[in-house]
Amino acid sequence: MSKFITIFPFIHFNTKNNNTLFYNTLSGNSIVFREDEPISLLAKRLEENNFACTIEEDQISILEKNNFFNLLLENNIGYSIDAEKLQSMPFATQCIDFKDNRLMSSFKNHEYLVENIREITFYLNNFTTATSHSKRRKPLHHQFIFPICEEEAKEINLINVKSILKEVEDNPIIINIVGGNILKSSNFQDIVNELNNCLHNVFYYFHYSDLMNSDNINLLSTISEKTIKVILVDFPFVRSEFLKWDEIIKQDGIRVEFIVENEEQISEAEQIISEFAINDNMFHPYYNGTNFEFFKENVFVNEKDILDVKESLFELATKKISNPSFFGKLIFNADGNIYTSFNFPPIGNINKLNLKNMIFNLLEEENSVWRVNKTVVEPCKNCIFNILCPPISNYELVMGLNNLCTVK
Ligand code: SF4
Repeated sequence: MSKFITIFPFIHFNTKNNNTLFYNTLSGNSIVFREDEPISLLAKRLEENNFACTIEEDQISILEKNNFFNLLLENNIGYSIDAEKLQSMPFATQCIDFKDNRLMSSFKNHEYLVENIREITFYLNNFTTATSHSKRRKPLHHQFIFPICEEEAKEINLINVKSILKEVEDNPIIINIVGGNILKSSNFQDIVNELNNCLHNVFYYFHYSDLMNSDNINLLSTISEKTIKVILVDFPFVRSEFLKWDEIIKQDGIRVEFIVENEEQISEAEQIISEFAINDNMFHPYYNGTNFEFFKENVFVNEKDILDVKESLFELATKKISNPSFFGKLIFNADGNIYTSFNFPPIGNINKLNLKNMIFNLLEEENSVWRVNKTVVEPCKNCIFNILCPPISNYELVMGLNNLCTVK
């Protein structure tokens, strides 16, 4: 006696090298079969036949040994039914077609191209008078948002910034404002005035050593309370510099982000958080070339981490064709160059910008960082978790490894 088997349309499944994952995008439940050829072959047939197929008696007994049919029901993955009870195979469909390029075509619709932009980072300048972080030669901004200090002082052209803001004014996005030291930028007040009444979520970034005097504090007070002021703290920690922020960190809309390279710095940051009662805080592990073990402990994911994250079918479909770490994000540097990530060469210059063309090219180019994801890179393309797994980020690019995980 044969059976019809159907997988529900909200299930994501992936099979590689006889390993198979079934993931329920509604409940977050999952089943993983390892080194199981019959289930892998069945998953391939289900994929080819739009989530439904017939299984014959000899296969049924093999699958039963793995408790397959019960697991299917228990996790609301699908169901099977004796073939003789139905005239034809149950009709099955997919909510989102993972196979074709329809989703990408919708991103390329000319009319809505600018709506692909999700985040813009403007480096207002590239200098500061503070010595602590300006002397750093380690490129922290290659890993996360962090001030850049160069020998040759530059400031971004305000007219260009305003014209970009005009293009995205109806499309609320994240706007990051960072320097050098933005308080030293001649454009600072103009930018603040421009952004104080916009629809965007605006974040201003400061290094904690950059709050020099009362003039700076007055400048800070002109920023709308609706925005977030991010204070970046790295180590070694200079207490006297941080104390200048003492009154400010008690206000709403302040977030303190700690740059940590080892466990000792995490402990020190935790002490600072407790002492100054910092509610909104975040940690950025920094890869310094020698702290691989620290990264293994604090950044690498394991199978449980991956399966614990709940993702919708739409999120998974977009992760298959794009990279959420970079998609829709642009960085405008103080010298006018435009980047998707500082780990790649610039993709254009603010003085010759055609925003729609730039967006279209990033969508069109298969190898653009907006699109390259774990389904196409080694070794992740052969892993059943490649769509569920956190996307490639600047950490992978800096470390030269796509698989920041402990999954075997
Ligand atoms: S990093 Fe790559 S190999 Fe590791 S679990 Fe994620 S997709 Fe798989």
